[in-house]
Amino acid sequence: MKIYKGIGVSPGIAIGNIYLLEVDMLRMRYKKLTKEESRENIELFKEAIRKTREDLLKIRQQMMDYGNDIFIGHLRLLDDPVFIGEVIKKAQHENTNIEYLFSIQLKEQVNIFKKMDNQYFKERATDLQDVGRRLIQNFMGADEYTFLENIKEDVVIIAHELPPSFISKLQTRHIIGFATEVGSWTSHTAIIARALTIPAVVGLEGIAEECSPGDRLLIDGVDGVVIYDPDSETLKDYDKRRSAQKQQEKRIIAIARKPALTRDREKINILANIEIPQEVNELVRFGAEGIGLYRTEFLFMSRNGKISEDEQYLVYREIASRMYPKPVTIRTLDLGGDKFLHYDDFAEVEKEDVLGLRAIRFCLHEPQIFMSQLKAILRAAYSLNVKMMFPLISEVNELKQALEMLNEAKNQLMTNQIPFNSNLKVGIMIEVPSAVMLADHLARMCDFFSIGTNDLIQYSLAVNRVNKKVAYLYDPLNPAILKLIYLSIQAALKAGIEISMCGEMASDPWVIWLLLAMGLRDFSVSPKLVGSIKEYVSQVDIKGIERNLQKALSCATGTEVRELAEEIVLNNKLPIWQKK
Ligand code: PEP
Ligand code: MG
Repeated sequence: MKIYKGIGVSPGIAIGNIYLLEVDMLRMRYKKLTKEESRENIELFKEAIRKTREDLLKIRQQMMDYGNDIFIGHLRLLDDPVFIGEVIKKAQHENTNIEYLFSIQLKEQVNIFKKMDNQYFKERATDLQDVGRRLIQNFMGADEYTFLENIKEDVVIIAHELPPSFISKLQTRHIIGFATEVGSWTSHTAIIARALTIPAVVGLEGIAEECSPGDRLLIDGVDGVVIYDPDSETLKDYDKRRSAQKQQEKRIIAIARKPALTRDREKINILANIEIPQEVNELVRFGAEGIGLYRTEFLFMSRNGKISEDEQYLVYREIASRMYPKPVTIRTLDLGGDKFLHYDDFAEVEKEDVLGLRAIRFCLHEPQIFMSQLKAILRAAYSLNVKMMFPLISEVNELKQALEMLNEAKNQLMTNQIPFNSNLKVGIMIEVPSAVMLADHLARMCDFFSIGTNDLIQYSLAVNRVNKKVAYLYDPLNPAILKLIYLSIQAALKAGIEISMCGEMASDPWVIWLLLAMGLRDFSVSPKLVGSIKEYVSQVDIKGIERNLQKALSCATGTEVRELAEEIVLNNKLPIWQKK
């Protein structure tokens, strides 16, 4: 038995046999060949290289339409003297099947990248695997993920990281858990797992190397723990926990169906955050009263960065019509920073620089991409339940520019007589401290605010949200954060515009009471938490806790706020699902 500690990104417990994704995709058996067979074998391999090059060029050509030259690195790999040339020479010399030699070479190269200190290079391993996988698939004549379709027993997948294309090909019900070597809350694995409600743990360095296919693996997506070859005591313990969780889920789903009313009869709206259209299937069951944040980044990534206005329109319209008449807030592209570090699809995005050309800045810098998204949203908003939101607004001119682009998009649609909603409601994320300070001006320029605490904490406390070394400073209860939130709510209420919160703090049971006391009535959270928050809200008497607001705001440290929160939670018997 061996215990691994990672980051739990999708709750639940799964126990199954290990399926090593990348190894299986790339594992080839050794064969000794005759000279003649070897010649044929190498010819077939060269043909597969040609086919792979063609495939990549095709995708690259499509991307060029968007002014981006992507896959250039992938194409270079196909001409690489080590990656390809050496393998061909070796196969000729040893009369060994070339696919076997290639898979060994690929694995070695991937491991070199994975072991590099630099996060960017580490994650390049996924790119290398993608090219290798394409090449082997072309060689074998197999479809992507064909191997997965033949699974007949419950398996947990171990991979370096799940590629974005994985979701569209996933068909089997036998995949019950994910454990990956890299990743964060916003990585592909996390997004796919939450969308499919499959338990997942990420950030398990070295796990793909150390665990053998077919052995048992236990995944605990709540505590972020993975247990290789669990003993019978552990299995018994987790069995109990699993049935308790199932019971709890049933109870919460029953609560989730009803509207959320506080004890003093205030209606609180609990909406959901989604990243993938497939998530809409579960939203009604989870009791969500709309979509408060649809992060569109994954849509772009899952199509290798290339998605036309029409394709976007169809996706947005589908989500809007399935949620109708419940509101759906679509956020424009928020790429960069910690989001999708290792994809070259958008060459200009500053991948690791959270203060760089990302989110709205990137969109304003790439007007073609932005314009196609604006038009697609305007068209989808024809059903009237759609709103649009800009991320990372940091100053007035930035919002002005974005609104000018929106006007231009409307003009273009009008000229082409394409129907759209000219009164589309437009809001902004409040997630940069400067936006809080300028909230009175910004409120006059838009229809609503949504507080993005994930970034607001990062930018106001100067703590990179994915840097583990300074994670102790990333404290939602820091009184500075509470004051910024309070100022934002006050500004919105004063200006008479709507305000909600879609950052993780909206589902933090230690502060929901405080947010209610500040006047917040709209929350957008992870779909599975909607029911828990409805239950929580029904225990709160807003009038009763309002007097604690000033106490909280006058605290000097997070610890003091925490003590106060503990008292309130205990006295009001509020349910808790998150450690402090
Ligand atoms: C936030 O920053 O709080 C937010 C909701 O946006 P994201 O997590 O996508 O940056
Ligand atoms: Mg954000």
